[in-house]
Amino acid sequence: MADPEYPQKTDTKIVTGGRRKALTGAVVNPPVWRASTHLYENVAALEAGGDKNEDGRFFYGRRGAPTQWSLAEALTELEPGAHGTMLYPSGVAAISCALLSILQPGDVLLMSDNAYDPSRSFAEGFLKKWGVETRYFDPMIGAGIADLFCDRTRAILIESPGSLTFEVSDIPAICAAAKAHKGKREIVTLLDNTWATPYFFTALDKGVDLTILAATKYVVGHSDVMAGSVTATKRHWQTLRSTAQTLGQVLSPDDAYLAARGLRTMAVRLKAHDAAALDIAQWLATRPEVSTVLHPALPSCPGHAIWKRDFAGSSGLFSFVLKGDWDQAAKFVDALELFGIGYSWGGFESLACPKRPEQYRSAVAWACDGTVIRLQIGLENVDDLKADLERGFAAIL
Ligand SMILES: *Cc1c(COP(=O)(O)O)cnc(C)c1O
Repeated sequence: MADPEYPQKTDTKIVTGGRRKALTGAVVNPPVWRASTHLYENVAALEAGGDKNEDGRFFYGRRGAPTQWSLAEALTELEPGAHGTMLYPSGVAAISCALLSILQPGDVLLMSDNAYDPSRSFAEGFLKKWGVETRYFDPMIGAGIADLFCDRTRAILIESPGSLTFEVSDIPAICAAAKAHKGKREIVTLLDNTWATPYFFTALDKGVDLTILAATKYVVGHSDVMAGSVTATKRHWQTLRSTAQTLGQVLSPDDAYLAARGLRTMAVRLKAHDAAALDIAQWLATRPEVSTVLHPALPSCPGHAIWKRDFAGSSGLFSFVLKGDWDQAAKFVDALELFGIGYSWGGFESLACPKRPEQYRSAVAWACDGTVIRLQIGLENVDDLKADLERGFAAIL
C-alpha cells in the first residue's frame, strides 16, 4: 500500500496495486481462487458469515474471492479519491449496472451523443421501459450542460474521447455544473474511461463520481477475456455494490486472474500504443487520400486543447476520414493484411474497421467529407503497419 509521504506514480501503482499479503498471500500473482462454498466451523459462524459484506471476507463465491479482490483493489488504487471497485463479466455489464445503481423510474439521464452504441441501446432498449428518459447532448457542450438540467435530471454519462469519433469533452466543467446544480436531486456523473484508462486520465479527482472501464480492452490487453469495472467514490459505493450483488454480477476468478496479469504490463503497453498510434496518425494526416484524422493529440480533433490540458497521453485507438464512400473504405480495409478486421480493441494486435457514426447520433448530426475508418494500433512495428496501410491506399487508386 502506498505511503502518503511518498506518493507513487501510476506506473508503479499498476505494478504494486492489490498485492497485499493479507489479501492474497506471499506470492506475486494471486492464484486462481476457485470457490463457491465456504465451510464454517459451526452454525453460529455460518449465521454470522454474511454480516460484514466487504472484500477480504469470504462468504460465498458470488461476492468474490482473493483473485477478484486483489484486482478490484489494484484498480481502486489507480484512482485518487476512490473508495472501491466492483468487477463485472463485461464492459457493458459495468455500464448498465453503474446506471442501474443510480437511476430510478421518472429520472432523466443525459448521455453524450458520441457514447458507445451499446450504451445507447441500453438506454433505449431497457431504461426506457423502466421509466427512465435519456436525452443526448453534444460532447463539446462543456459547462453549457447546465442549460439541459431539469428537476428530473439524475445522471450524466460521458464518454471522452468518444470511441468512434474522438471528441474530447470538458469533463471537469460538466462535473462542476452537475455539482453546482441545486435541484431536488443530486446529479451524478459517470464516465466511460475505457480509452484513456486511469494511466492517462484519472477521473474521480476531476469530479467524476463513477468511472467505468471495459477492462476487456487495455486492462486485459490480450484480446482473450471479457471484463468490466466501476470505481466509485465513498458516496456511491454502497449502492453500486448492492446493485451488482442483487443482480448477481460476478467476474469469474479465471478471468480476474488474466485481467490482473494484463494490468501489470498496462503502462508499458499503453506507452507503446501511444507512440505508434501518434506516429501513424501524423503520417495519415499528410496523405492526400485522407480528409481528416480524429486523434485527440492532433489539433484536427475536436477538443484537442482539452485533451492537452487534462490527459497524460493518448492510447492506440483513433479514426481517420478516408475521402470516398463506404465501398471504397471497405476496399481499403479488405486490402490490409496485417490489420485484422474486427470489433473490440485494446489488445496487442492492430485492427481496422469502417464505421458509420451518423447512425448513432441524435443531438448533433455527424457529417464528414468521406468515410470513417477506425484503427487500433497494436504493438507491431510501425513501418510494417504503414506499409500495410499503403496497401489499402493502393487498392483504392
Ligand atoms: C468495448 C467497449 C465497451 C464494452 O465493453 P465489453 O467488454 O465489450 O462489453 C464499453 N465502452 C467502450 C468505449 C468500449 O469500446
